[in-house]
Amino acid sequence: MTAPFRNLIAGEWTAASDTSPNVNPSNLSDVVGDYARGSAADVDAAVAAAKAAFPAWSRSVPYARHEILKKAAAEVFARKEELGRLLAREEGKTLPEGIGEVTRAGQILEFFAAETIRLAGETLPSVRPGVGVEVTREPLGVIGMITPWNFPIAIPAWKIAPALAYGNCVVIKPAELVPGSAWALVDILHRAGLPAGVLNLVMGKGSVVGQRLLEHPDVTAITFTGSVGTGRRVAKAAIDCDPMKKVQLEMGGKNPLVVLDDADLAVAVETAVNGAFFSTGQRCTASSRVIVTEGIHDRFVEAVTARLSGLVVDDALKAGTHIGPVVDQGQLDQDMRYVEIGRAEGAKLAFGGERLNRETEGFYLQPALFTECTNDMRISREEIFGPVASVIRVKDYDEALAVANDTPFGLSAGICTTSLKYASHFKRNSEAGMVMVNLPTAGVDFHVPFGGRKGSSYGPREQGSYAREFFTIVKTAYTLA
Ligand code: ADP
Repeated sequence: MTAPFRNLIAGEWTAASDTSPNVNPSNLSDVVGDYARGSAADVDAAVAAAKAAFPAWSRSVPYARHEILKKAAAEVFARKEELGRLLAREEGKTLPEGIGEVTRAGQILEFFAAETIRLAGETLPSVRPGVGVEVTREPLGVIGMITPWNFPIAIPAWKIAPALAYGNCVVIKPAELVPGSAWALVDILHRAGLPAGVLNLVMGKGSVVGQRLLEHPDVTAITFTGSVGTGRRVAKAAIDCDPMKKVQLEMGGKNPLVVLDDADLAVAVETAVNGAFFSTGQRCTASSRVIVTEGIHDRFVEAVTARLSGLVVDDALKAGTHIGPVVDQGQLDQDMRYVEIGRAEGAKLAFGGERLNRETEGFYLQPALFTECTNDMRISREEIFGPVASVIRVKDYDEALAVANDTPFGLSAGICTTSLKYASHFKRNSEAGMVMVNLPTAGVDFHVPFGGRKGSSYGPREQGSYAREFFTIVKTAYTLA
């Protein structure tokens, strides 16, 4: 028996009326733990606690917030192996990927610890004689957070850390599939010295806990990462609320990686394989469309296929595993359905796409590489969110750029080339929020803005000092001296 993990409400670990099991996708007989499944009433209690904590927390000395975030960062770093193992066990990332994500969460906490004492305003002369103008930033109030399953600790960290750093209170609802890493992060922050009610955790279903957060009039702002469909619902609910909520959405991607004839073949192959298939392709920044000019196309496909056949798909915790399992049955069904859709659309399955059996029962899928794809096929337009990529053959750079930008999304885009001319042109003309040259579309730094354009994102950027745009509100004060 595993002890039920409780919600954190008003500084107390609070039992919910129901729990749900957190199951290891590498081994379905392994239950990571039973986690609370909260109710709308739990959300109401958490929001009330956050609202009550806000006046004191928002006026606390920034250095006190600095010390709490720094202490939490130190514990995350000290426990990165253990927390990386928990993450790999509940989500299916490989152990090195899990440890890498935990390290990133620690770096984010450390970064925002420093930001607490760096938040600056402006003073300007007025256009009126004797009057001065000050522009300052203030916290918003209670921030509701709804996070997805694919980065179970990094995404909660990159929302919680700036919210707290700038003096906001938080109610977070992590994805029901992977609550363990978020629970551990909240536990660390709580023990680092946060006053009761400043950070509340309500685990449970999106349709219950998430929905109540969206409707609650005392939630000032909502930051969401997840699918486009849910994101649209979140935005509508935030606007229908009285008062309306500030909203930030990070959603899907169908990220292009362009490979030009002049690319270094080895770099292009590693970039494509890493970007498309590592973390089981379950990244919103994954390179799911690989757009290749005809001079290098056949050599590239041959080399990628050879590289894929050498990758080990197995238990996320086993040494030597390159690609862990798909996160759950629903996602596996979706991936397999898209493999069938690709075949039916006339794309050629050049590698993989088969369900795999391993020592333990889990959601193992061979990475699937489609070639002879066109950009109007469903497999090239819709986000699959699994280890499935389309290779699209094009004539030249101009066609590659046009195909890269022909998508409803705009999160990340990459190019492999040795030409400064094409790299510079692509950086300027790509319609994506993030552009990579000779680097995978996935894999970003923690101290610079993260976000996209078109259907991928809505509202201000996350991460780095740009996070203040969402997590603070500007005040303009006039004084007659
Ligand atoms: P995915 O599961 O593919 O990451 P979702 O958009 O379904 O994407 O889920 C992202 C987050 O949104 C999860 O925490 C989920 O529980 C939550 N969620 C799902 N439906 C709703 C809803 N109707 N209202 C609020 N949150 C929701």
